[in-house]
Amino acid sequence: METCDVLIIGGGPAGSSCAWKLRQSGLNVVILDKAQFPRHKVCAGWITPPVLDELQIDVADYAQQAVIQPITRFLTGMIGGREVETTYAETVSYGIRRFEFDNYLLRRSGAKLKLGEPFRTIRGEGSDWVVNESIRSPLVIGAGGHFCPVARHYSTTSDTAPGTADASKPAARQQAELPVVVAQEIEFEMTAAQSERCTVLPDRPELLFCPDLKGYGWIFRKRDWLNIGLGREQEGHLSSHVAAFVAALQSQGKIPEDLPGPFHGHAYKLRTSIPRPSTPTGILLIGDSAGLADSNSGEGIRPAIESGLLAAATILELGGQNVANLTSIYGEKLRGRFTDSVSALGGISGCLPQFARQYAASWLMTSRWFSRQVLLDRWFLHAEVPALRV
Ligand SMILES: Cc1cc2nc3c(=O)[nH]c(=O)nc-3n(C[C@H](O)[C@H](O)[C@H](O)COP(=O)(O)OP(=O)(O)OC[C@H]3O[C@@H](n4cnc5c(N)ncnc54)[C@H](O)[C@@H]3O)c2cc1C
Repeated sequence: METCDVLIIGGGPAGSSCAWKLRQSGLNVVILDKAQFPRHKVCAGWITPPVLDELQIDVADYAQQAVIQPITRFLTGMIGGREVETTYAETVSYGIRRFEFDNYLLRRSGAKLKLGEPFRTIRGEGSDWVVNESIRSPLVIGAGGHFCPVARHYSTTSDTAPGTADASKPAARQQAELPVVVAQEIEFEMTAAQSERCTVLPDRPELLFCPDLKGYGWIFRKRDWLNIGLGREQEGHLSSHVAAFVAALQSQGKIPEDLPGPFHGHAYKLRTSIPRPSTPTGILLIGDSAGLADSNSGEGIRPAIESGLLAAATILELGGQNVANLTSIYGEKLRGRFTDSVSALGGISGCLPQFARQYAASWLMTSRWFSRQVLLDRWFLHAEVPALRV
């Protein structure tokens, strides 16, 4: 049987960042992912500069092998309403393609990769965990995203230490109730003719809110790659909201009439309160599997990376051992880094009767002060939150 110091289930930004940090201290790390990389990931692909800082990514170096679009302005407003342009003196965000970004982080992590291999089972043996009856490790990190099989398993069991546990058993209880966003998106490389007609500027993504404030759509151009999507609090009718959004954009001539294919959907949880990890000894959850995405913007890449780094820092502090207080120390680090985040727009919309929502939202969205200071700086860019140092 194969052995390692830390086994990470899921090679997205959370898993590969955790592995990268652990590998810097020489730990023997294996990442298991059901997908072959590069793989498609439904995502708009905007990241903020602290993400690159935390991972010590050199923009010029990255740009030699992949698309990275600096952003210096935004267009914001209500779908079909008046739009406000906010301009910055410096780069405040970047657009990346997850197909490339995730593959870059994974290959750079230095971990041993077991790709195309899904997580199937987990059981305890002594003070170790045995996964898929083929890899043995004292520490297992659940980094499998919204449907992380490790998180699903441990939300359904009261195991507190390595014991016998079979991940193939059906879930008896659901994970902690966090609000869920459902989203659909398409990303494609425009033809020369499409590119010429497209009025979306590469350094100026557009964020356009639904009239009821329960979600927003985006158009994001990264060089000649166009990413269009819309996410909303979980409910029915997402496809009809997406169709209405696309129709509005096409009628304004913002996006091509001839989109090359269907939209792809995905879901993820938003952070309303800082999770109190309750996994068994030696098992930590990071990224979407812990439900850490920001509830105002839906930004999940930065919390995924930061929780991966914090999990790695906790493991290194405790000498890479499966010790009883691992989970609680990691939980303290999460609470020290992330604040409770209640969806502010959702809060506004919840306080107002339906007829007043659209009026209030339209008024706020046309305010230059609100667009910059609140919507962009505070909710989307988290301009006041410095890069994590671990
Ligand atoms: C439409 C949409 C747009 C978004 N846009 C943005 C954005 O612009 N900026 C931003 O910051 N966030 C955005 N997010 C959120 C962001 O995509 C996630 O928060 C982020 O990907 C979380 O990273 P992760 O590493 O936790 O999980 P993931 O990126 O989901 O990675 C999980 C990995 O686990 C693997 N896995 C899953 N199940 C198994 C299994 N059974 N066995 C083995 N491996 C498994 C998967 O193959 C995957 O590679 C968006 C989300 C959506 C849905």
